[in-house]
Formats: sequence, structure tokens, C-alpha cells
Amino acid sequence: QIATLKRANNHPAVNGVKNIIAVTSGKGGVGKSTTAVNLALALKAQGARVGILDADVYGPSIPHMLGAADQHPTSPDNKHMVAIETHGISANSIGFLMPPDNATIWRGPMASSALSQLLQETWWPDLDYLVIDMPPGTGDIQLTLSQQIPVTGAIVVTTPQDIALLDAVKGIAMFEKVSVPVLGIVENMSVHICANCGHHEAIFGTGGAQKVAEKYNIAVLGQIPLHIRLREDLDHGTPTVVAAPKDEISQYFLQLAENV
Ligand code: ADP
Repeated sequence: QIATLKRANNHPAVNGVKNIIAVTSGKGGVGKSTTAVNLALALKAQGARVGILDADVYGPSIPHMLGAADQHPTSPDNKHMVAIETHGISANSIGFLMPPDNATIWRGPMASSALSQLLQETWWPDLDYLVIDMPPGTGDIQLTLSQQIPVTGAIVVTTPQDIALLDAVKGIAMFEKVSVPVLGIVENMSVHICANCGHHEAIFGTGGAQKVAEKYNIAVLGQIPLHIRLREDLDHGTPTVVAAPKDEISQYFLQLAENV
């Protein structure tokens, strides 16, 4: 059953979009995009209508992960973009708007205005969930975006490592400041599962996300293992939830979608 959660801030809703979920992280490389893509597809697998917006100005990887890197949104009226359809979800990406080597010269205000434009000027079909893959970090861009985008709730992705958890805490504090509800934490690379023998090894430590969650009174929504299959499927443009929905690895994301 899909409810429309109460929006925290008073921004106008995005046309036809019921819930906007911002997937965030305090630092890069912790698996934010991996989580955003597989979560979007897991929500779709539950029967929801889903879109994904790649707002990661520093490294828009969603087109590649969805096997849509060579597609481009069309613009029948020269004002709006038609979201791309891939693996049964709708997608648009900041990556479609800029040449790949331009990212580093973007300044905060430019990046934030490009992103709100991308959000408002994309023709999304009616959606139960729009998942936004946010830029990593807790700087001005993130703050502005959280204030501009009518976010229903944020998910903070972290690894169990202390240094990542410290940044995750900053993210939680930032969303509290702008009154965006934090739906919970996703602990990625929770444990490494060996593809050969199934051995579990807690490479980045254990229990960290749980401690942060207790301290801030928020939920741990999921714990995703580090597994070679996840990386390989994304590199091939068919995320694991689609490539192997019955696989053990997919179950972690299907469970996450249940918990959101
Ligand atoms: P971020 O969005 O936080 O920068 P990504 O989702 O792009 O991070 O992940 C960085 C790299 O690590 C990608 O190549 C991705 O495939 C890989 N990766 C992320 N999480 C996992 C995981 N749980 N298991 C295997 N590979 C992963």
C-alpha cells in the first residue's frame, strides 16, 4: 500500500509525484548511487510507479548503472525533457545536461539551480516514488537542494566505518536543520560475502550504523553486503534487482523497499 507521506517543507509538489525520497551520503564512494538504483527498482518490483533523478553533480553514474548512457531525453517543446524509460522506471540525470569533463567547474549556485530546473522541467509520468540520488556531502549545494526540493524523506547511506559514520551524522544534522525527515540509515558494505565460498567478513567493522541510529532515534532501514555481483551487474547496466530478482543479494534491496 502506497501512502503519501506528509511533506515537511511547504514547497509545491512536483506534478504527479506522490513521494520524493532523497538518497544521500556524508561522503562519496559509500554506495549511495548503488543503493538509489537498486532501491528504485525494488520499489518498482513491489508494483509502485517509480522514477529516479540523478542529481549527483560530482559523478552522475545513474545512466551507466541503468544501461542508458547512450540515451538522451527528448524535448518536444524545447522547454521540458521527457524522462527516459529503462528497466520499467523513468529516469533523468544531470549527466545528460553536461559534457562529462565539465562537472568540476560547477559552482554551488549553478549546480543547485541546474538541479531544481532538472526536477521541475522533466516530464515525469505519474509516480508513487521519485528517488533522487543526491550529491554526496553536507555543503551548500546539499543544503540548498534540501530546501528547494519538496522532499518527503531522506535516506542516509553509510558504511560501518567510523570515518563514514561521522559524515553520516553531519548529514542527519543537516536534514534536521532544514526540517526534512530522515527515514533512516542504510548501512552499505555491511559485511563482505565471498562469491566463491560464502564466507562473511566485516571488513569495515560492525555495529556502527546501529549506534548512530540509536543515538539519533532513527531506523536502520537496511544492511547491504559488499558482493562482487552488485558491482558487476551495475557495470553491465542491469542492476542485480533486475538481473537476478531471486538472488540473495536482491532480497536485501527488496527488504529495504519494504522498510522505506
Ligand atoms: P557513491 O554513489 O556513494 O559515490 P557508488 O554507488 O557509485 O558510490 O559505488 C561506488 C563503487 O562501489 C561502484 O563501482 C559500485 O558498483 C561499488 N559498490 C557500491 N556498493 C557496493 C556493494 N555493496 N557491493 C559491491 N560493490 C559495491
